[in-house]
Amino acid sequence: MTSAYPSIAPMTVPFFRPNITDEEIAEVVETLNSGWITTGPKVKRFEAQFAAAVGARHAVALNSCTAALHLAIEALNLKPGQAVLVPTMTFAATAEVVRYQGAVPVLVDCDPDTLNMDIRDAARKLQAVRDGKLLPAIHADCMVVGIIPVHVGGLMLDMEEVQFFGDRFGLWVIEDAAHALPAAWRRNGDEDWQRCGDGTSAVSCFSFYANKTITTGEGGMAVTDSAELAEQMRRMSLHGLSHDAWGRYTKGGSWDYKIIAPGYKYNLTDIAAAIGIHQLDRAEEMRLMRQEIASRYRAAFADLEEIELPREHVDRVQSWHLFAIRLRLDRLSIGRDAFIDALKEAGVGCSVHWRPLHLHPYYRETFGWRPADLPVATNVWERLISLPIFPGMRDEQIDYVANSVRKICNLHAR
Ligand SMILES: *Cc1c(COP(=O)(O)O)cnc(C)c1O
Repeated sequence: MTSAYPSIAPMTVPFFRPNITDEEIAEVVETLNSGWITTGPKVKRFEAQFAAAVGARHAVALNSCTAALHLAIEALNLKPGQAVLVPTMTFAATAEVVRYQGAVPVLVDCDPDTLNMDIRDAARKLQAVRDGKLLPAIHADCMVVGIIPVHVGGLMLDMEEVQFFGDRFGLWVIEDAAHALPAAWRRNGDEDWQRCGDGTSAVSCFSFYANKTITTGEGGMAVTDSAELAEQMRRMSLHGLSHDAWGRYTKGGSWDYKIIAPGYKYNLTDIAAAIGIHQLDRAEEMRLMRQEIASRYRAAFADLEEIELPREHVDRVQSWHLFAIRLRLDRLSIGRDAFIDALKEAGVGCSVHWRPLHLHPYYRETFGWRPADLPVATNVWERLISLPIFPGMRDEQIDYVANSVRKICNLHAR
């Protein structure tokens, strides 16, 4: 994203810039020259490497995280009219896949500290559905069968708490881990880290979209410890066929295949996997670069009274996909949107993660959600700004963003 005012700003800093090396470019060229450009040996290698990296038994490469989420709930047999607990503080994909199945996303408020799904509110919403007291469109016949937490910005939820909640109410757990590579959590004071995607949840879904922590342009991965779920997702990712093209055309393969189910077209290409293999190798190196940027922002903003910074969490390894500040609107004479306009004018790209789902027309009109149903998200989102954070961001760019934020605060302090 470039500034609309390049001639006025002394410097422009994009919100994100993908970090692509010569190795990735060479691997893509090699793939293009190899004669096999769609799902094949590079995808197989990427899957094996990915499963090993996160500590899961199976990994299925797909063309997006949205596809991964869809195939996961399909494999878990989500039926029309059933309901799934989904955070309101998330991207469109987390809830829309529930709609693909004709099921109902029950929106859950966020924790005011982490912005992750608040499990206590999940319990409240689940009880309200069972009592037929939530919303007329979400009645007691909607059986709640699953929960899809999102690790917002790559700060993991306490997965023991999520799993405990899921077990107690008989729910499956799918992680929307679009931001969470690499990320880990541990119980308070524990020695051992538990990696995101380690197979604790039924399925964990990762994204390789252009601005995610590793990228293949577009791409995603579903990981699981269950051989059955992996097989079902793999089959449905390619038209519900019994064998993929690589299996059919390589030595020992047969030309024949059987259609087992009406599937989808969600497979990843070898061209994309060629990038992914090297991005994955550099995932931790790039995470450390983002962590360094986060700590420099933290130091630069320590004395700024007009903003709040994300809290530090000693029991998390954060991917730092996002660095979100919160404006203290009581100390500023301008609102969030004007603040973003001022940053834009200074040549700094930024974003908001997110306008909560219940404040979008589709969810409001279809289910009747009101702002007061999800009060924490309703209030906090008006104060959120995500600042640029990407590997390869130069020191002078970090300083420039920090100084721009400081100047706007000083100019509009009250
Ligand atoms: C980006 C994102 C997705 C979707 O990822 P795609 O690979 O673009 O389909 C899903 N959930 C969250 C939280 C995201 O940020």
